[in-house]
Amino acid sequence: MPSRATACCGSPVISRPPNQTRPEVGVVSPEMSRKNVVLPAPLGPMIERSSPRRTATSTRSTAMRLPKARVSASVRSRGASGIGADSTGPSGVSRSPRRVRRAPVCYRPREHGCAAAGAPVSLELPPPPRPWPTQDGMPTTRGLNFYVADPNLEFVCSTVMEPEVLARARPLLVEMGAVAGDELDALAAAADRHPPTLRAYDERGRRVDEIVFHPAYRAMEQLAFERFGLAAMSHRDGVLGWPGRVPHVVKYALSYLFAQSEFGLLCPVNMTDSTARMLTRFGDEALRGRYLPRLTATALEDLWQGTQWMTEKTGGSDVGALTTLARRDADGAWRLWGDKWFASNANADVALTLARPEGAPPGTRGLGLFLVPRHLPDGTKNAWTINRLKDKLGSRSMATGEVTYAGAVAYVVGDVGRGFAQMMEMVNGSRLSNAMRAAGIMRRSLLEAVFHARGRAAFGGALFDKPLMRWTLLEMLLDVEAAASVVLNAAVMFDAWDAGAEAAGRLLRIVTPLAKGWITARARAVAGEAMNVRGGNGYVEEWVNARLLRDAYLGAIWEGSTTVVALDVQRAIVKDGALAPLAAFIGTRLDGVRERHAKPVTDVVRAVLADVERRAAAWTTQPPDTRELEARPVAETLYHALATALLLDEGQTLRPQRQDHHKLLVAALYARRWLVPAPPGVPAFSPSALESLERLVDWRPIGADALAAEAPVRD
Ligand SMILES: Cc1cc2nc3c(=O)[nH]c(=O)nc-3n(C[C@H](O)[C@H](O)[C@H](O)COP(=O)(O)OP(=O)(O)OC[C@H]3O[C@@H](n4cnc5c(N)ncnc54)[C@H](O)[C@@H]3O)c2cc1C
Repeated sequence: MPSRATACCGSPVISRPPNQTRPEVGVVSPEMSRKNVVLPAPLGPMIERSSPRRTATSTRSTAMRLPKARVSASVRSRGASGIGADSTGPSGVSRSPRRVRRAPVCYRPREHGCAAAGAPVSLELPPPPRPWPTQDGMPTTRGLNFYVADPNLEFVCSTVMEPEVLARARPLLVEMGAVAGDELDALAAAADRHPPTLRAYDERGRRVDEIVFHPAYRAMEQLAFERFGLAAMSHRDGVLGWPGRVPHVVKYALSYLFAQSEFGLLCPVNMTDSTARMLTRFGDEALRGRYLPRLTATALEDLWQGTQWMTEKTGGSDVGALTTLARRDADGAWRLWGDKWFASNANADVALTLARPEGAPPGTRGLGLFLVPRHLPDGTKNAWTINRLKDKLGSRSMATGEVTYAGAVAYVVGDVGRGFAQMMEMVNGSRLSNAMRAAGIMRRSLLEAVFHARGRAAFGGALFDKPLMRWTLLEMLLDVEAAASVVLNAAVMFDAWDAGAEAAGRLLRIVTPLAKGWITARARAVAGEAMNVRGGNGYVEEWVNARLLRDAYLGAIWEGSTTVVALDVQRAIVKDGALAPLAAFIGTRLDGVRERHAKPVTDVVRAVLADVERRAAAWTTQPPDTRELEARPVAETLYHALATALLLDEGQTLRPQRQDHHKLLVAALYARRWLVPAPPGVPAFSPSALESLERLVDWRPIGADALAAEAPVRD
């Protein structure tokens, strides 16, 4: 029985007793359940710390203060030393160790039907782990709770999740944040240093095609599949103690945290998740009965992992050119013959693959979708081999191989004549997941950069206070907040679509390639800037930056490279009429903006949308070489318009709650950066915008004056 119920937004929220075993997760430690913490804004108390004109007046000691998540009262009380770890408050006033509890508030009381703004929700939080002291100007984020340290994520979650969903998700997010900031990060570094190897033959010379992983990878699998149930939570009731299925939006928020430390393993997690999804949607009863329980298992010993292999030597973009043949033999079984040139999660137990049935027409129309098991029902090894593993730049923890089907037994999934169309549905889900992972890389990059810039001095002051450094960090912050909003809002559309909302499906049709195209490409730049910020150490593999950068490069290649995805946006507009629902979605958000100083931002977005609509209207009559040339700039512009509209919408929610123009300012600066670019030679941001950086990073309230100064103007 639940121990207590607290009123949240008019509806009761049931919390578990502190020592109750959580199904499929393990025991909640009494210490975790008991402790309360001071959270960073907007969760914690808002303390006015300094004047906005910080750059000119800050001293080295105040400017180098670490983010609040690292200097909570509970941390100080445990005697951590180093920057930000003493027991003296920012104003120099001694603060005795104490526990402060402040329940988070509902940011959308009207929409959620709450009795009053600020109605408390149930909250039991563990303390952030004790920080590691900084002694040498080389601060590390190791030990930080990535969720507690990310007020933006908490806020965006509050705008996309119902309060009771967020209340239930929060302890899980905090738990994931702690794991990502410490244990997972260490495991990921080890697995990256020790990539898997292929054991093609056993000691008696028999073909076994086994992949040998470093124990760190196995430990990460345990975290992802078992402890957090990331691959199963959309398919199985009760994972992580959730009543029913965990919503996609919660899975995305959890995975966003996971991705900040480990990128490679999220490919197998997502592929297993989407293989189960494909079977649920298209598989017959026999396939579902045999494979779904294993694909959605949360115990590693029961789990069968899934994967999807399409790409051949002939090309990954032009899938219709593939040559793998599917032949139906006299015994009625389908057998596959051919090579797959890129086969990630090469150790998977179940592969979904595209092949052309003998006699089928050329191109994508003729392709069938097949399930190829690693082992046949009688336990014998199926007839496919892993020829070798790829030596990759990034995502090194995970095995990508080259595979040959030599008469491998395969089962048709769904309609054999609609294989490509069915597979594209899976690819769309994976593209969104990819965008989320890239957004996670961006967020980690920003975190590392801010930490370093605050903890390191040069030329008599903190790096953080140098104007050009602020410029770099501000630009990263804008990208991070925009990406988080886009992927989490897209995840909400995913949930709505699964619940039967056709309109959400039409929106996803275009939002998915928009997000995949821009965020994965931009993550490269953001990860690269973070490497620069860390200087020489950023280039050294002992620090996380090199891994982030190497991983970031992959996101923009697989699941459709950037240009191919831009062409998909164009197809969505021309063939599926996806621009109208997107424009309506954006327009609704702009209509809701009432803040006077934000109006110029809405004008910019409207003007940009009108431009795009004019261009798109001409596409149907243009020759391909003219039309295709516009695909990428239009896709990028639409992404920025969508991101700005979402930021404005969030800003409209946040401002009345806390008198905080944070999100409206971010929207204005984002529009200024990406929709109204500065002329050549002119800095993108004004000195006053740079002065807001610290408040933006710390989530201290931003005044209307800061917004008024930054509203973009379009000629
Ligand atoms: C580490 C890794 C793991 C992978 N794992 C898998 C996997 O598990 N399963 C799987 O199926 N695939 C996998 N892939 C393959 C990946 O999806 C493809 O590499 C990708 O789709 C690009 O295909 P390609 O390499 O054949 O390049 P191409 O298709 O030859 O493309 C080369 C370049 O041409 C561009 N291009 C192509 N067509 C056009 C056009 N019409 N207009 C303009 N530009 C164009 C592309 O954008 C790209 O930049 C993996 C790739 C990598 C690197």
